Order: sequence, then structure tokens, then C-alpha cells
Amino acid sequence: MSAILPGATIGILGGGQLGRMMAMAARSLGYRIHVMDPDPSCPARFVVDACFEGSWDDARAAADLARGSDVVTLEIEQISLDCLRAAERFAPVRPGIEMMRIIQNRILQKNWLRDEGFPIGEYRAIQDETEVAPSLAALGGKCFVKSASGGYDGRSQVKTGFDEQTPDVWKLLGGRPCIAEKALDLDQEISVMVARSPRGETKSFPSARNHHENQILVWSVIPSAVPQEIEQKAQQIACAIADRFELEGLLAVELFLTRSGELLVNELAPRPHNSYHASERACVTSQFEQAIRAVCDLPLGDVAVVQPAAISNLLGDLWLGHEPRFDQALTVPGVTLHLYEKHTPRKGRKMGHLSAIGATPDEAVARVLEAQALL
Ligand code: ADP
Ligand code: MG
Repeated sequence: MSAILPGATIGILGGGQLGRMMAMAARSLGYRIHVMDPDPSCPARFVVDACFEGSWDDARAAADLARGSDVVTLEIEQISLDCLRAAERFAPVRPGIEMMRIIQNRILQKNWLRDEGFPIGEYRAIQDETEVAPSLAALGGKCFVKSASGGYDGRSQVKTGFDEQTPDVWKLLGGRPCIAEKALDLDQEISVMVARSPRGETKSFPSARNHHENQILVWSVIPSAVPQEIEQKAQQIACAIADRFELEGLLAVELFLTRSGELLVNELAPRPHNSYHASERACVTSQFEQAIRAVCDLPLGDVAVVQPAAISNLLGDLWLGHEPRFDQALTVPGVTLHLYEKHTPRKGRKMGHLSAIGATPDEAVARVLEAQALL
């Protein structure tokens, strides 16, 4: 197999912030980039050579993108299989379609993890309304119910058993198949980003520690500073999943560390991940450059941590009162601002992030939160 060398064109399905940051890394390496996105003024728009307008199930637009590309990758898992198949007629699609088919459906994904023997929490697949009550009863107590497809940042999820109310889960999730998970008592959340190239080279980044509020990532830091034996276990799990899938590209493995000391896989994301934005400052190679190296079958970059770094997300909420005071935030030593050129701030919409370096992971987190508080 031969590498796709700089000068070639990379097609990216999805032009959100992940596509934009991948495109910026690809440009630095000397590639040309085409993206496909439903929004013609998507964040990647201004850093790419061409933008094809098309929804996630527009197979014609995906084929147009692929026709002019030497390889096609993606920044979002909700691309329809028809789109991926249409693209594959013209260029290799990485990660591959079979892996995408399993990951883009939470039921298939959880069943796959279970069948392959990876540690996961208790769950029930729900195919129709009659299965809701028995599934919740079997799990007992607090649950997270999640749509089988289409959710992100905690959207398309309903919590049950947390208070007196009993939400109509089936209706709230739009009357579509979903998955009920027992709510776990979490000590920490971490993630491991693995890259694997078509020639089979695999490298996994040191784990990131992730702090969520209301099911949205608030801040994240690399390295996570979990005990060595947990780090080893997390690395083993992530690499085994990548191997089993014969991954070509990136795979983020989100993990739960429970109060009783279990390490469980939460979910998989076959693309760059919010929890590795800090890799741009923490690691020798960023997740975005690594994605490009992996899909182009170049040698993978060094994943070592150079210095601890943390990020905190800037949600649209911040813009709703007054314009954020970026000049204030940037007075904090080691802090940098990243904006995604999204034009309309909305509640819960990721508009950008702050990053900070520190002598220790704790210091990096403290600095990024100090900067955030000044906004
Ligand atoms: P998304 O696709 O929105 O990231 P996740 O399944 O990762 O969906 O859920 C988002 C967050 O919600 C998790 O990172 C975690 O903080 C919380 N969460 C989800 N499922 C559970 C669970 N079974 N137990 C405890 N917390 C959970
Ligand atoms: Mg998640």
C-alpha cells in the first residue's frame, strides 16, 4: 500500500469545527482539502479549497466530493451509509464503512462491545414502545435513555429515575429505537485517542481526563494523571478495539471510571474528539495532524506529552448576555483562544475553546478555568 503524499486532495465529510481543525492541519502538511456540509458557511468553509453543500444523506454530494479526492474521511459519525458507499466508488473511505455502520448505531455499538468482551455497563436495547417499561424495570433506579442514532453533546438523551417525574421516554426521543443504560456512579471520565494506519501502525495518545456538566464536556486535560494501572488498562482496551475493527484513521474511546473502581467503555467516536483538542498544545503531534497522517497512510506522529494542557469549551450561552471579554481571558499566562467562525451563537452550541498549558495537569485546568471566569 502506498502513502497519499502532500499535494493530494483529502475529502472531509462534515465541515464543523472538527473538520475545520483537520483541514488546518492538512493544509500545514501541504494537502488540498474539500469538505461536504449541509451549511455552505460551515466553520471549515474558509480554510478549504472547495465546499460541497449536501445533507448527511445526500449520496450525490458525497460522490461529488469523493470524485475530486484521493482519500475521504469524516468528522461526524452520522453520515449515512449510502453516502459512504457512494464516496467509496471514487476514493478509499477511512475509517471504513463496516466500522461506521456499527458505531453510528448505539445499539449495534453496545452489542458489538459486549460480544467482543469489552467491559461496559448494564444496558437494554429498546426497539419499540412496549419494551420501554420492562427495560427500565430490569435496570432499576436511575437510567440514561439514548436514541440509537443521531445524538451528541447529551442531545437525544433522557434521564429517568432522578426525580419524582416519569418522563415519556419513547415520545421524548421521537418514537425511535433507543438504548437504556443504568446510571453509573462515576468517579472520573477519561478518553483514549487511538490512531491506526492502513499499513497497520497503531499509536494511542496518553489518556485525557474529561469533566462533563449536563452531559456536555466542560473541560478536559492531557494527561489525565490516573494511576498507572488504570492508564495501562485503558490503553489496552482502546488499542484492542482499534485492532478488532482494523481501524484506518482515528478512534476516540470514552471510558467511565466508577466509584467502585471499574473501568467501563462508554462510547466510541471514529474521528477527532473534543477531549483531545488539548493535544494541539500538550502533545508532539496533535489529534488533527494524526488523523491526516493515519488516513493518508503516512508514518504516525509521536504522541508523547510535551507539557500538560487543558481546554474549556466556549458555548453559545456565553454570547447571550454580552460579547465575551476575550481581552480579559487572554491576560492569564499560558492561555490561548480558538474560535470556530460560527456566526450564530446558540445555547449549548460549541463556538470555540480556550486552552492553557501548565506545569501540572491541575495547574493547566486551573488556568483555563480562571480565563473562562474572566469572560
Ligand atoms: P454523547 O454522544 O452526547 O457524548 P454520552 O453517552 O457520551 O453521549 O453521554 C454524555 C455524558 O453523559 C457522559 O460523558 C456522562 O457524563 C453522562 N452519562 C452518559 N451515560 C451515562 C451513564 N450510563 N451513567 C452515568 N453518566 C452517564
Ligand atoms: Mg460522549
